Amino acid sequence: MDLGIAGRRALVCASSKGLGRGCAEALAAAGVALTLNARNAEVLEATAAAIRAAHGVPVTAVAADITTEAGRAQVLAAAGAPDILVTNAGGPPPGLWSDWTREDFIRALDANMLTPIALMQAVLPGMIARGWGRVVNITSQSVKAPILSLGLSNTARTGLTGFVAGTSRQVARHGVTINNLLPGIHATDRAIQLDAAVVRARGITMDEAIAERAATIPAGRYGTAAEFGAMCAFLCSVHAGFIVGQNILLDGGATNATI
Ligand code: NAP
Repeated sequence: MDLGIAGRRALVCASSKGLGRGCAEALAAAGVALTLNARNAEVLEATAAAIRAAHGVPVTAVAADITTEAGRAQVLAAAGAPDILVTNAGGPPPGLWSDWTREDFIRALDANMLTPIALMQAVLPGMIARGWGRVVNITSQSVKAPILSLGLSNTARTGLTGFVAGTSRQVARHGVTINNLLPGIHATDRAIQLDAAVVRARGITMDEAIAERAATIPAGRYGTAAEFGAMCAFLCSVHAGFIVGQNILLDGGATNATI
């Protein structure tokens, strides 16, 4: 399927690895020019070079912390006037509801709610003026059903979801769509981090932790960054202009709900 977005420009945040990289790869395959971002410059440059070589699209790499005001300013300056924005950042650490301080909540809200909101506020006016735009926020299945060990994620991402629900319906008539992608478990460094916490807590091996988690997923396996990226690219395509303010679960059936 021709996604109809060749020649468009995308800013994909937190994209040197994992799900962000999967989105960047799929957009590049559709002919989209990219601005990529992550904190570790070496890993980011290697990803940018690999995507340029594989897809022949222009790729600008900006090493910066997207959760800081200075980092966002740097990234937005390099991205110019993007047609497509994919927001993403690292997820908050696991823990217990009783442990977190105000500062822990502020950090999680900054990274997983206020950062994507600030990025949308920066790029939406240009998209509206040009009459076309696509925003995809990478959130989490924890928005649909709480993950008990990830209360900071449950909290911050639900706030972002509320913002998107209202804002998406205010910008849709200008040809701009905003939707959220809700990953369940995917085979990325983040999953390794979560599985390593289980290994430490329960004294089991990594293989056992992965097998136990995979057994809880109807698909019987973890998702891949490529599958995730393909859905992101479709949401950014010309075919997805009527998909507005949706929360799309990519979780192998893990969230046990009828709707
Ligand atoms: P990942 O494999 O660890 O990759 C994270 C990417 O984000 C890396 O490129 C990392 O590079 C970059 N990054 C992290 N913090 C950043 C920051 N402050 N500024 C700029 N770049 C930053 O993680 P992932 O699995 O792709 O997860 C992406 C998001 O989806 C996270 O919020 C995660 O919580 C959420 N999620 C993931 C899963 C899953 O199973 N994988 C499930 C549900 C939700 P640097 O470290 O160099 O900055």
